[in-house]
Amino acid sequence: MGRKYAIIPAGGIGNRSGLNQPKQFFEWQGEPVLSRSVRLFVGLVDAIVVAAPEEWLDQTVQLVGKQAHVVVGGATRFESVHNAFQALPTHEPNDLIAIHDAARPFFNAQLLNLGFNLCREKGAVLFARKATDTIKWADALGVVEQTLDRNRIWLAQTPQIFSGQLLQKGYKQFQSLEPTFTDEAAMVEAMGHPVHLLEGNIQNRKLTEKEDFMRSGETCIGHGYDVHRFDPSRPLYLCGVEIPGGPGLLGHSDADVALHAIMDALLGATGQGDIGHWFPDNDPQYKGVRSTQLFAAVWQDLSQKGYQLGNVDLTIQAQIPKLAPYRDLMRKQLAELFQVSPQKCNVKATTTEGLGFVGEKLGMAAHAVVCLVRESCP
Ligand code: MG
Repeated sequence: MGRKYAIIPAGGIGNRSGLNQPKQFFEWQGEPVLSRSVRLFVGLVDAIVVAAPEEWLDQTVQLVGKQAHVVVGGATRFESVHNAFQALPTHEPNDLIAIHDAARPFFNAQLLNLGFNLCREKGAVLFARKATDTIKWADALGVVEQTLDRNRIWLAQTPQIFSGQLLQKGYKQFQSLEPTFTDEAAMVEAMGHPVHLLEGNIQNRKLTEKEDFMRSGETCIGHGYDVHRFDPSRPLYLCGVEIPGGPGLLGHSDADVALHAIMDALLGATGQGDIGHWFPDNDPQYKGVRSTQLFAAVWQDLSQKGYQLGNVDLTIQAQIPKLAPYRDLMRKQLAELFQVSPQKCNVKATTTEGLGFVGEKLGMAAHAVVCLVRESCP
């Protein structure tokens, strides 16, 4: 019956992406593009072969682990796929080989069997999208010569699936001619063999330009909660603002319960523990420290990792003092700390109607929710 294989050419260094590493290593929502693309085929084929640039071979091996076999790519995509093809465990005429761009991590793998089944019958299958824009044919000076019939225009994607026999024949025929095919379907077409189109999913775009990755922003949400008991002998700080008349809060630092909740939310959103872990309350260097300083350390770390503030929403629970007159001030101070517009920082204050430890005026609590976005590679 023949086996099913996947070949993933990841040989290009991706200059077009404007990034300082091959685009297949760039992360999309925390996972490198290449490992997402490899993962599409795991369990659906008998083996996966990745063709990688020689200088990135070790990283590629490390990245794909046991999921794929890695070979050195060539100077062109055509060569890379050919190298990978030669490394396949079998070369039976009935083998089916799906070739898929490393930079297309959004292919709907549920369509794959449809492709294999059609290929078993027809020998050559190409996933593609129908054109939605009107397509113009122009001369070298950019003057339109013709408007093409959109109903017959398809935009080639991958996977492209071929029988082993057809590929074998094609490589034999064209290998020595230094062919300029930009995909394997073009080779099969040049052999005079019909290539059958299958409609791919609309999300199956190729990540090519820097802008594609800029859109790759990940969003993280974090929640923070903190409580401090009153100590009237101390000044009261909330969001870094001193609230005249207090009462203050007891704590190892300045006990800014609002900033503590926000820092915990930030660390929560980025999976980095909590402030107790970052700034232990038995460490003398943090005794009496202003929480604005602690915040600055946390926010600097996150900024360096590429995170930006989507928004922060803070709720302070306090029976006393009245916080409404300071709300705008706190909001402004938060905006300054984050270096964003106050619009992104919301501060709310509520009593608890006399209920609980807050209502009994024993202390204050604060809840914070933050949304962080990371728009480009760190
Ligand atoms: Mg605290």
